[in-house]
Amino acid sequence: MQSNARIVIVGGGIMGASLLYHLALEGCTDTLLIEKDELTSGSTWHAAGQCPSITGSYNLAKIHAYSNRLYPTLEAKTGQYVSWHPCGGLRLATNEHELAWMKYIYGYSKSIGFDMEIVGLDAIKRLNPFLTTDGVIAAAWTTGDGHGDPSGLCNALAKGARDLGSTVVRHNRVLDIKQRGGEWEVITEQGTVIAEIVVNAAGCYAREVAAMVGGDAPITNMQHHYVVTHPLKAFIDRSEEIPVMRDSYTSGYFRQEQKSGLIGIYESTGLREAWAPEGFPDWEASNELFPDDLERIAPWLERAIERMPIFGEVGIRRVINGAIPHTPDGAPLLGPAANLRNFWMCCGTSFGIAQGGGCGKYLAQWMLHGDAEINMAEFDPRRFGKFADKAYVRDKVFLDYRLTFTTRLPGEEELAGRPQKTSPLYEKLRAQGCVHTETFGWERPKWFSPDGRVENYSYRRNNVFEIVRAEVAAVAERVGVLDLTGFAKYDISGAGAEGYLNRICANHVPRKVGGIALVHTLSPQGRILGEMTVTRLGQDRFYALSAAAAELRDLDLLSQGVRPDDAVQIDNVTETRGVLVISGPRSRELLSSLTDADLGNGAFRWLTAREIQVAGIPLRALRVSYVGELGWELHPEVDALPALYDAVWEAGRNFGIANYGLYAVNSMRMEKGYKAWSSELTNELDMLEADMARFIDFDKGDFIGKAATQARAPRPLKIVYAQIDASDTDVRGGEPVLAAERCIGVATSGAYGHRVHKSLAFACVPFEFAAPGTSFEVLLQGERRRATVLATPAYDPDNLRMRV
Ligand SMILES: Cc1cc2nc3c(=O)[nH]c(=O)nc-3n(C[C@H](O)[C@H](O)[C@H](O)COP(=O)(O)OP(=O)(O)OC[C@H]3O[C@@H](n4cnc5c(N)ncnc54)[C@H](O)[C@@H]3O)c2cc1C
Repeated sequence: MQSNARIVIVGGGIMGASLLYHLALEGCTDTLLIEKDELTSGSTWHAAGQCPSITGSYNLAKIHAYSNRLYPTLEAKTGQYVSWHPCGGLRLATNEHELAWMKYIYGYSKSIGFDMEIVGLDAIKRLNPFLTTDGVIAAAWTTGDGHGDPSGLCNALAKGARDLGSTVVRHNRVLDIKQRGGEWEVITEQGTVIAEIVVNAAGCYAREVAAMVGGDAPITNMQHHYVVTHPLKAFIDRSEEIPVMRDSYTSGYFRQEQKSGLIGIYESTGLREAWAPEGFPDWEASNELFPDDLERIAPWLERAIERMPIFGEVGIRRVINGAIPHTPDGAPLLGPAANLRNFWMCCGTSFGIAQGGGCGKYLAQWMLHGDAEINMAEFDPRRFGKFADKAYVRDKVFLDYRLTFTTRLPGEEELAGRPQKTSPLYEKLRAQGCVHTETFGWERPKWFSPDGRVENYSYRRNNVFEIVRAEVAAVAERVGVLDLTGFAKYDISGAGAEGYLNRICANHVPRKVGGIALVHTLSPQGRILGEMTVTRLGQDRFYALSAAAAELRDLDLLSQGVRPDDAVQIDNVTETRGVLVISGPRSRELLSSLTDADLGNGAFRWLTAREIQVAGIPLRALRVSYVGELGWELHPEVDALPALYDAVWEAGRNFGIANYGLYAVNSMRMEKGYKAWSSELTNELDMLEADMARFIDFDKGDFIGKAATQARAPRPLKIVYAQIDASDTDVRGGEPVLAAERCIGVATSGAYGHRVHKSLAFACVPFEFAAPGTSFEVLLQGERRRATVLATPAYDPDNLRMRV
C-alpha cells in the first residue's frame, strides 16, 4: 500500500465511495479509500436501494435530487451494472396534515427542480392497480426517483473514481489515527499512510473511528427489517413495474422486487432494537445480518397486506434485518469534526443510498473549495456537542426511527432525550407556562401558554398565533423579558486581539471601548460562514456572541484563525454566562429602578455596552435589540441569573412586564428586516448577494474573503425583503418564488409581523427582481401569493424606537 495520500477516506460504503468519486470529479485524485473488508460490506450491502425524491428538509431534498439525477447515468459512465429502476415513487396521504406537508414539499420541488405532482385516487389506482386506497386522500407522485442495486451503485462510484485515478484498498482495517505535526498518521493492517486530510466514512463504526482521534460521531445503529415475498402472479403478468410505495399507515414502504413483493417496516410502537448500543460493534462484522424478528414487525406487515392484498397470496421468501446508522435529528454528518483540523465526517446517514450521491458531491465541494453550492449548516457535524451523549443519542434515534413515516408539522418537537442543557431559569419559566424549543441541546423559551393550551401544530396560523401577538404587544407597548442563555459566547483577549479579529471578520471590530459591531466571518471565496456580535470591553478585551447552534462551528473558526504569532486567547464562556434580554419602551424605567448606572441616552447610547450592576449583580449590559425596541441584554455569571430574573420580574410588575419567546422574536426580527444566520446568511452567498455590504469594511486592511469579495463579478442573485399577500399561512423557508410560470428563486424565511399586521419574508431572487416595488409570487400551501419587495424594514425603519 502507498505511504502517502492527500486525502484518506476510512470506509468503502456508498458514502465513502461517492465522496471518492466526487473528489475525483472535482480534480482531486491524490486520494486513498481504505475498506476493512469488501466494498459495500457494511450497511450498504443489505439496503433495499430505494431513492425517494421526497424528504422533509429543503436542503436534504437537494441532496436526494442530485443522487436521482446521477444514478441513472452511472452505468453508462462507468460500465458497472447498477440496476436502476426508474419506477417513480408514490407517497400516500391519509390525512390533511400529511397533505399539507406534501404541498409544502411540492413547493420546493419547483425551486430544486425535481418532478412532483399531488395526485388523487384515480391516478393512484392507475399507477398501482393492486392498492387498496381506504383512508387515502391523495398521494405525492415523484417520477424521477426509483431504486437501484446498492452494491452496484457503490461499486460504480468506486469504479468511476478509480477510472479517474483514485485508489481503493480493500481488506485493510484502519487500526488507529494519530496526529503528527500538521498531518495525520493512519495506521492500518497493511501499514501506515501519512495524510493531510482524513475522512470518517465508517458507517456503523463511525463512532469508533471518531474516537481514534478523540472525537465523537453521535449515532446509534438501528436494526431494520425488510422482507421479500415469493413471486406474485399479478407482477408476472404485468410488464410495468409499480412505483415504490410509502405509507404512514404501514409505517413503511413496499414495492416490486423483480416479480416479488418487497416490504420494509419502521415499527412505530413497541421495542426497537439497536445494534451494540453501548459499545463496539464487532470489528470483524461484515455483511452482518441479525436474526429475524418477524413478530416485532408483524402488525405493520399485516397493514401492508391490507394495502396490497396480493402480498397475502404468497409466503415470505427472504428476510433482511440489518443495521442502519441514525443521528439524533435524522440528518447526515457532513463536514469538519469539531476541534480537529482536517478531519472530516461523511457518515450518519440513515438513507445512505438515496443520499450518498449528493452527500459525496457537496462534501467534496466543501472540502476542496471551502464552500458547497448548497447550504450545509444542517448537516454540519458540529451541530452536536457533548450534550449528545450515548443516552441522548439513543433516545432521539429511537424516536427518529419510530417517526420515519410520520409527518412532523412545523414547530412540532418531541421530548425524547430532553432536557439536556437548561438555564437556571428553566423550571421557573416552565411554572409560568413556558414551552421550550431545543437548540444545540439548550432548552429555550418558544412561547408561554397562559391558559394551559397546547399548540395545535399546523402549516397554517394556529391557536398560538394570538398568544404570540400578545407577547409582541407586551414588548412593543410595555416591557418583555426573555432568557437567551443558550447564545454562544466567547471572551477574546490579548494584545493581538483587535488585529486578529479584524483579519477574520469582514467588518471592523469596535474601535472604542464599549462599542458593539455586527461582524461576519467569510470563507476565502467570500461566502458567509458565521455572524457574531462583537463588544469591546477593554483595550485588549472583546466579547463575541453568536447563534446557539453555531457554538462549536464558530469556536473552530475563531481558534483555527489564530496564527502562531497572534497574542490572542479565546475562551468559550457559553456555559458560564447567562443572558436575560429586557426589551420594550419601559425597559429603561424598569432597569433604572434596579441600578445606579445611568441608562440615559447620553450616558448609555444604542449599540454600546458597559459593565454595571443590576440588582447588585455585576454583569455586562449590551444596549442592542433584535426585536426593534429600546432594550438591553444583561449577561451576568450564569449562577446569578435566578436572582436577576426575580429582581427584574418584581420591579417589572409596575411596568406590565411579560415573558416572551422565540416565536415572538421571529415575528419582530422579520419586521425589522434582520437576516438570520443559516437561513439568509449561508455558505451559498457572499455578503453582496446577502445585501450585507454595509457590514464590510474594505478600508481596514486585509481580511479573509476580502479579495474574493472584491473580485467577484456583479452577482446574478440577491436576498430581498418582501411583503406577502398571505391569507392564513406564512413563509417558513423553501417556498418557490414564481414569475409567471417560471420558478425564479426561493423564499428563505418568513413570519407574520404582528406590529405591522403584515406577512413578511426574505427571498433569494435574480437581481432584476430585487428593486423595491417589484412583484413576484410565492407558492404557499399550493396557492400563489403576491409578494412585493420592500425598500425598508416594515417596522420603524429609522430605528427611532431603539435610539430613544
Ligand atoms: C435493511 C435495510 C434497508 C435499507 N434500505 C435503504 C433504502 O432503501 N434506501 C436508502 O437510502 N437507504 C437504505 N438503508 C440505509 C443504508 O443502507 C445506509 O444508510 C447506508 O448504507 C450507509 O452507508 P455508509 O457508507 O455510511 O455505511 P456502510 O455501508 O456501513 O459503509 C461503511 C464502511 O466502512 C467500513 N469500515 C468501518 N470501519 C472501518 C475501519 N476501521 N477501517 C476500514 N474500513 C472500515 C465498513 O466495513 C463499511 O464497509 C437500508 C438499510 C438497511 C439495514
